[in-house]
Amino acid sequence: MNCPLCDSESRFAFEAKGYPLRDCMKCAHRFAAIAAGEAHVAEVYGDDYFSGGGAGYADYLGEAEMLSSRGAMYAKMLEKYSGKKGKMLDVGAAAGFLLKGFIENGWQGVGLEPNAEMARYGRDKLNLDIREGSLESFETGGRFDLVSMIQVAAHFYAPRQAFEKARDLLADDGLLLVETWNRSSLSARIFGRHWHEYSPPSVLQFFSEKGLTEFLRKTGLEKIAGGRPSKKISGAHARSLLRYRIGDRFVLKLIPEKINIPYPSEDLFWALYKKK
Ligand SMILES: [Zn+2]
Repeated sequence: MNCPLCDSESRFAFEAKGYPLRDCMKCAHRFAAIAAGEAHVAEVYGDDYFSGGGAGYADYLGEAEMLSSRGAMYAKMLEKYSGKKGKMLDVGAAAGFLLKGFIENGWQGVGLEPNAEMARYGRDKLNLDIREGSLESFETGGRFDLVSMIQVAAHFYAPRQAFEKARDLLADDGLLLVETWNRSSLSARIFGRHWHEYSPPSVLQFFSEKGLTEFLRKTGLEKIAGGRPSKKISGAHARSLLRYRIGDRFVLKLIPEKINIPYPSEDLFWALYKKK
């Protein structure tokens, strides 16, 4: 199986959850060797992903407020780096809470979401323009000032096509905001093959910050800013993540469900790219 970013040959790295992970011999990108497509998107992001715990969200709707404040945080950050506000496309929008945070800070926007139930919730309950589908197959006549991908790039089944699509959807000087996991981070290196993000089939792409930036530069998107997001997750989400790692232990009950706790996100990064 060739590299989904640069189409070069790859070699077997190790197995994770029964799936082979491979490393590109040219650009060093790591990926899960799964023949995936639209069917995969529908299957992995079924309703269980948002409510069944495990690697997805324990209770996505319970995270609403936190997601909106993250959207607001990024909107303010964009203003600082580019002075920009305008029309945006949020990829992997779920019900649109993150998008809502942007909209409350002056943006207009469209969300794109493969899960029909989530997309409907966003339209009916939040009154947002959430379209059902994936970026790889998204068709529109419009152009955007910003495309945001908050923790979605690792899930793309065709990452090169997705990023090229994002570039084509951007207006001149448009911005791409990516927040994703860094496989070259200290914690990823310490945990090795036990790093939490090595969890196919939901996670398929394992970027390093450097590798993604280099790939995007060749795609016509130049990095203009970057950093690490501070993140808080709910007690319920923390319980779900821990249960997935260590099993159902009594100690988990000691974490209150209703509090927000800082999540160690040393292995998470954000980067802002500008269309050349
Ligand atoms: Zn490659």
